[in-house]
Amino acid sequence: MAKYIFVTGGVTSSLGKGIIAASVAKLLQARGFSVTIQKFDPYINVDPGTLNPYEHGECYVTDDGAETDLDLGHYERFLNIPTSQANNVTTGRIYQTVINKEREGAFLGKTVQIIPHITDEIKRRMLLIANTGEYDIVITEIGGTVGDIESLPYIESIRQLRWELGSDNCLTIHLTLVPFLSAAGELKTKPTQHSVKELLSAGIQPDILVCRTEHPLTQAIRRKLSLFCNLAPSAVIEARDAASIYDVPILMLKEKLDLTVISMLRLADRMEPDLKKWKSFLGYMKNPVNEVKIGLVGKYIELQDAYKSILEAFVHAGVANECKVHIISVASEQITKKNVEKTLKQLDGILVAPGFGERGIEGKIHAIEYARENNLPFFGICLGMQCAVVEYARNVLGLKDAASREMDEKTKNPVIDLMEEQKGINQKGGTMRLGAYPCQLTSGTGIAAIYGKKDILERHRHRYEFNNAYLDAFNEGGLSTTGINPESNLVEVVEIPDHKWFVGVQFHPEYKSTVENPHPLFVNFVEACMG
Ligand code: GLN
Repeated sequence: MAKYIFVTGGVTSSLGKGIIAASVAKLLQARGFSVTIQKFDPYINVDPGTLNPYEHGECYVTDDGAETDLDLGHYERFLNIPTSQANNVTTGRIYQTVINKEREGAFLGKTVQIIPHITDEIKRRMLLIANTGEYDIVITEIGGTVGDIESLPYIESIRQLRWELGSDNCLTIHLTLVPFLSAAGELKTKPTQHSVKELLSAGIQPDILVCRTEHPLTQAIRRKLSLFCNLAPSAVIEARDAASIYDVPILMLKEKLDLTVISMLRLADRMEPDLKKWKSFLGYMKNPVNEVKIGLVGKYIELQDAYKSILEAFVHAGVANECKVHIISVASEQITKKNVEKTLKQLDGILVAPGFGERGIEGKIHAIEYARENNLPFFGICLGMQCAVVEYARNVLGLKDAASREMDEKTKNPVIDLMEEQKGINQKGGTMRLGAYPCQLTSGTGIAAIYGKKDILERHRHRYEFNNAYLDAFNEGGLSTTGINPESNLVEVVEIPDHKWFVGVQFHPEYKSTVENPHPLFVNFVEACMG
């Protein structure tokens, strides 16, 4: 039977529950346990696919085509195992399932209520992954902050499960903030005490407190927290601000968080944690011998989280090249034909980001034109690839009015067009072309050399595609289509063979880059930028 670790958060949001959950998982995995993580989000959207990146950061996509919270990206990057639809559940999905069942008559005669019907559905989904029998430990992160109205059904479900599964099989880690008051020169424990009281009033005594802090937790503070929050001093864990999220597992190791978990869950200890690869990654990350400046051209640049997976993929690729990658955010809306040279001149390469809608498109196209003409390494992802196709059509093939149908419905030259299967679709949620699809790379091309193989599987999230009516025109004109979906013939990769590095991909390689498996496209792109 699997053991459960629930991770809740208190005091404020943005404390890094996802990173703490992923770090605990990493340490347990390093000790030989098979671990997975799931996240329950308390909002009413059925999935985060319909959320603006400004609201909730990037939407992460799994192999099986789930549009999920960006924390799942951290889980995959840390654990190096894929997640799935079952790993991310929202309140919207829970209610949708219960209401659908009610309409089918599943509860005929009964009043459908939060307890037990909503909590039963939450518990069913909490146990779902464990029921596959694949995992020794399932870590369940509850989004939001304890005390929010939205979180209550989840907290209640944990309370019930603890009772149903037995306390040896479940534990709760509560992540809180211990703020430093500079006027008093002291760390303050009161917000944590209140947050734990809040949990207690919902029937949950946290087993472990992980305390985010800017300063070391003294023995006195640890004792105080232990006394007032009713847990062992060894269960008070310091989580100091770290330079990188990838330092956190090592900080947690020093705090013996893994050993505390193992003893509380009465797990038989397996082995000393094997973190050789992780530590070597950190070593290279902290001691780069090269530096590059790469422009990230996009429209959501004000918010770091909007391009989370791309930024992390660059960290991994930097390490693989012993190189510090400085990402320079470039607001696509602000790029004009006039200022493009000034904006991009000091960069070693540009990545044109994925996105939706018209805003900033022309700026992206100017940036691509500059990169193409000046032999500046260019990497286009999804919308970035589509913009490269439009740019090439307009400026090389002479199709002046070429556009993507997404931006110009009436264009005479829709070099990027709505996919056939998208034409009848009116519903917005979960209806894009989502998840992993195969792609065949043409032998002897740059992209095939980068991957070192012909058949790849990459993840997607789009409605528009390269218009195959223009296939010959592009190939004859010098923009080669070098990766094709073997079933649908959809163009997945375009490249300019005699450019220093010019690759556009319809898929999202950033979703598959992990600490242990940096993505070859990012690794190779960074190498090209290093010149
Ligand atoms: N908006 C484009 C499409 O739907 C690109 C999507 C993306 O960049 N993820 O095809």
